Amino acid sequence: MLHSTLHSRPPSDEHFTILVLLVDDQAMVGEAVRRALAGQPDIDFHFCMNPAEAPALAAHLRPFVILQDLLMPGVDGMSLVRQYRAQPTTREIPVIVLSSKEDPVVKSEAFAGGANDYLVKLPDKVELVARIRHHARSYLHQIQRDEAYRALRESQQQLVESNTTLLSLNQKLEDATRAKSDFLARMSHEIRTPMNGVIGMTTVLMDTELSREQREFVDMIRSSGESLLTIINDVLDFSKVESGKVEIEAHPFNLRQCAEEALELLAPTAAEKGLDLVLSISPEVPSIITGDVTRLRQILVNLVGNAVKFTAQGEVSVTIERKPAVENPDNLALHFVVADTGIGIPKDKQDRLFKSFSQVDSSTTRDYGGTGLGLAISKRLSEFMGGNMWVESEKGTGSKFHFTILAFIAIDEPPAWQQGSPEIRGKRLLLVESNAAQRRLVTSYANLWGLETTATETMAQAQSLLQAGQVQPDLFLIRADLLGESSPSALLNHWKDKFGRDGAQVLLLSPRRYRPGEIEQLGAVGAVIKPIRPHTFLDTLARSLAQGQKTGKRAPASSVFGAPLAPDLPLRILVADDNAVNQRVARMILKQLGYESDVVGNGAEAIQACRTQNYDLVFLDVQMPEMDGYEAARRIVALRTERNGKRPRLVAVTSNAMQGDRELCMEAGMDDYITKPVRVEELRAVLERWGRIGTGKPFPT
Ligand code: ADP
Repeated sequence: MLHSTLHSRPPSDEHFTILVLLVDDQAMVGEAVRRALAGQPDIDFHFCMNPAEAPALAAHLRPFVILQDLLMPGVDGMSLVRQYRAQPTTREIPVIVLSSKEDPVVKSEAFAGGANDYLVKLPDKVELVARIRHHARSYLHQIQRDEAYRALRESQQQLVESNTTLLSLNQKLEDATRAKSDFLARMSHEIRTPMNGVIGMTTVLMDTELSREQREFVDMIRSSGESLLTIINDVLDFSKVESGKVEIEAHPFNLRQCAEEALELLAPTAAEKGLDLVLSISPEVPSIITGDVTRLRQILVNLVGNAVKFTAQGEVSVTIERKPAVENPDNLALHFVVADTGIGIPKDKQDRLFKSFSQVDSSTTRDYGGTGLGLAISKRLSEFMGGNMWVESEKGTGSKFHFTILAFIAIDEPPAWQQGSPEIRGKRLLLVESNAAQRRLVTSYANLWGLETTATETMAQAQSLLQAGQVQPDLFLIRADLLGESSPSALLNHWKDKFGRDGAQVLLLSPRRYRPGEIEQLGAVGAVIKPIRPHTFLDTLARSLAQGQKTGKRAPASSVFGAPLAPDLPLRILVADDNAVNQRVARMILKQLGYESDVVGNGAEAIQACRTQNYDLVFLDVQMPEMDGYEAARRIVALRTERNGKRPRLVAVTSNAMQGDRELCMEAGMDDYITKPVRVEELRAVLERWGRIGTGKPFPT
């Protein structure tokens, strides 16, 4: 029966039987209603003639609709309605009151007393059935709604309960974390104690009599020890990083030194694997910045460490560039890239990288070890420093880990080594280096210092240039492992005697330091140790060239630049080159010849400059981003009409001395052509040529 199922589950809309209870003292009315409802199979009719029993019966039957007579002898129908409303089991049951007449006052009293509807006896059969159905259905819906609410409340309650459980679990976890932190703190103390011994002893050792080389070694032990200490501290600080309780310090420090220290720490491993480590810092990056040197070094050690770990051959390079700071112009935004030529990371695994304890695949742990914490920590640290971290990689072709930080400029003076030195300016260097990144780095330093450099990749290439008489170096810089099996000293002596100028010297480029005497045995005068530190590099170059002059019979080539040209040939000069180092070199050489020049970074800027200034001579690097030198030349030539037929002379500067280059340049409207590295003599010739012809005059068509 319907009422028996009410408690558990509400009936559904279909197939439900409407139980109707009529309360009336007249049997005749009962009979009439029964007949009216008789044809309705879904209506189950009950009749109660004794009003005194009605409330109890209603509570027992729980009908869907009560039909209640209003006027009965001795009993007021309305008082019954109020009783239904007072009992919890019948409170919500729809009540239709039956009255003998249509009376607004009675009607409104009935509604006020809790009736749901009002009909005049005896209503039409169709209307009666319709009203019963309407009320029964809305009652059913109400029951269903109530049931749904109840279920909802119940699950809410369950949620609250499981939440409470979670909270208490969390508390336990926090306790565990605290225990872990305590353990880490104790461990770090234990490790720190002997490390302090190691570092302390190096300080004591430094105070004793040491050779220059020994001093250097001790210094390396000390700085490696300090870096190790830093790593221990920071890795053990992981819980701090995780809970966001990291304090970022702000002290002035030397950025290059920081990066060099990070690389130095990994240099032995890299050397063992035959990897090249290359550090290149854009000239626009200030030398001394204010920030957190320890955290920065930690990130670099982490990334370079990974790069070395996951690379079997090739190189690991660190580049640092300055980015425009978006929000606060006082901020210095730095962009670091740690690139390797290693195993790479599949695209679909890259999103997991920066999560703690995650490694690209579990076999990695077996092959390479590691905790999977390094990147998570590094990313957080870069975020703490106002930047972020991301990766670019493809399986099999290496990875590039990028990160940025915000810092402040402390000192923006170029370091002394950028000035170069008079001993090396204008000298000729023949470089033999198979690694492209290393070659670029050496060449960029050499260019900066006015050292005329020819870069070759192999011994054979170098040899054939020498044989053809195309180079006459003062200095050879040779990647040590290219010397191969052949008797290096004999080979070098052969070179020096045959092709080098008098007093030409040989330097080795090597990741390892040599024992005393070893270098001399090889026939070299010194070694440049990788990763290259520019100030030591400059020092080594200057020293070995000075040595060459001492022993050799060659007059010092002090006047490579010759007398300044500018007084005789005043020229307004523009240099367009995208490379900051090359810009510097060009300006420096021009300055030595007595010219102040303007510099722009690409073709579009060159055109703009030519619109507003009357240049006599424009040097156009042919390879520039956005608009190359050829296109720029074409447009500058076209400017002629705008500028009374005048235009500057255009000199192409190209690094690829290939057949056909000259033709391309001429086609684009260039007047002359020089190749990189720019030689002073060549530049001088160009200036003289165009200066004497006279420039700025109407262009002879
Ligand atoms: P781990 O201490 O295990 O190296 P990291 O968080 O530093 O932890 O690195 C997580 C994982 O990311 C490494 O186990 C490795 O699978 C992958 N990975 C990181 N750096 C490189 C990279 N330069 N080349 C290839 N895979 C890398």
